[in-house]
Amino acid sequence: MTATLIKNGRIIDPANGVDRVGDLLVRDGKIADASLFISENFSQKPDEIFEEIDASGLIVAPGLIDIHVHLREPGQSAKETIASGTRAAAAGGFTSVVCMPNTSPPVDNPSVVTWINDKARDEGCVNVFPTGAITKNIAGEELAPIGSMHRAGVVALTDDGRCVQNHELMRRALEYARMFELPVMDHCQDYNLVGKGVMHEGYWSTVLGLPGWPSAGEEVIVARNILLAELCDTPIHCQHLSAAGSVRLIREARARGVKISGEVCPHHIALTDENLHTHNYDTNFKMNPPLRAQADIDALIEGIADGTITILSSDHAPHCDFEKEVEFDVAPFGILGLETELSLFLDILFHKKQALNIVRLVEMLTVEPARLLKLDRGTLRIGAAADVTLIDPNLEWTVDKTKFASRSRNTPFDKWQLKGRAVRTIVAGKTVWKL
Ligand SMILES: [Zn+2]
Repeated sequence: MTATLIKNGRIIDPANGVDRVGDLLVRDGKIADASLFISENFSQKPDEIFEEIDASGLIVAPGLIDIHVHLREPGQSAKETIASGTRAAAAGGFTSVVCMPNTSPPVDNPSVVTWINDKARDEGCVNVFPTGAITKNIAGEELAPIGSMHRAGVVALTDDGRCVQNHELMRRALEYARMFELPVMDHCQDYNLVGKGVMHEGYWSTVLGLPGWPSAGEEVIVARNILLAELCDTPIHCQHLSAAGSVRLIREARARGVKISGEVCPHHIALTDENLHTHNYDTNFKMNPPLRAQADIDALIEGIADGTITILSSDHAPHCDFEKEVEFDVAPFGILGLETELSLFLDILFHKKQALNIVRLVEMLTVEPARLLKLDRGTLRIGAAADVTLIDPNLEWTVDKTKFASRSRNTPFDKWQLKGRAVRTIVAGKTVWKL
């Protein structure tokens, strides 16, 4: 048994409207009543290890949640494993990750869900919440067994990496998911419009001679999702939004009360399609959806600032060097995210753009994803699981990919100087990582 007193930190707990400097007591893996300690009613239990952490100058936040992570197991353990991926999460300040189903085999039946849950319990150092595929083999043709995956413990459905093109099938998926109150998330990509596109369609795709992935290829599916969410009166969450038009569509729909939401990843506000030119076709700048134009970045940040976008995520997508070290056209989409995510959001959204205050930033990484997926996380209420992240919002550091906990190195942010990062990650009362 252990008890830990986290002293003198700025406790930011948006779920409970808390923002004050004080002490947080953690006991037996749960948040405990710190006033007990102050009033000296605290008596150490026999065999109890008591520890104090000085959090002066630090933010004490509920453990951060990333709802968009590819852990690559089962089947792609050369890229990442549940062990290495959760270590990367911890090193980025995340105590919970929601993993995507496009593994090998995919998570389209209850046995793979159980396999991931067992493996995460044995080898993971943070909480892992699996999602299940909407369709069998993520092929977009036939619904996966939604009810049995729900019983096995998936927290949401998504065909991430792919997108259900058949609108009627998507409608059926929503109707089934609603029976289990299971959230549906969507990777928004219209295959016909996108074709073989590998980068944003615009000036730079013409200059570089690469096939374009037009913004409309995302916006069409965002619009489809708005219409279906309205038709079925069921929420849909749009993953990794990249285009200005998507933000506008979601803003208008939310104003009408449609149950639609969206998330934004760091690379889509940190980089533009011009970076493919300045970095000579570096495949670490290839992701799906692609990096877009400055006007899109401005619109995404505006959407974050005005509350249209409610969730921040990484789309952590590890790939081996040998897979990325090929011609741009044939390289896989995706980059690492977990270990630079919080710092990029702090650096860009809080320090540079001042698009939001630190309380809202913490809220978008804790309560908002917890609420969407109905996770009993993202709060520092007494009795809750003691998942806590200590953050130094002003710490300046330089990204060094050779030090990453991830098994992969595919990041465009190596050597970047950033301001702000997590310094300690606590899961169920136990420090799983510290700087
Ligand atoms: Zn995706």
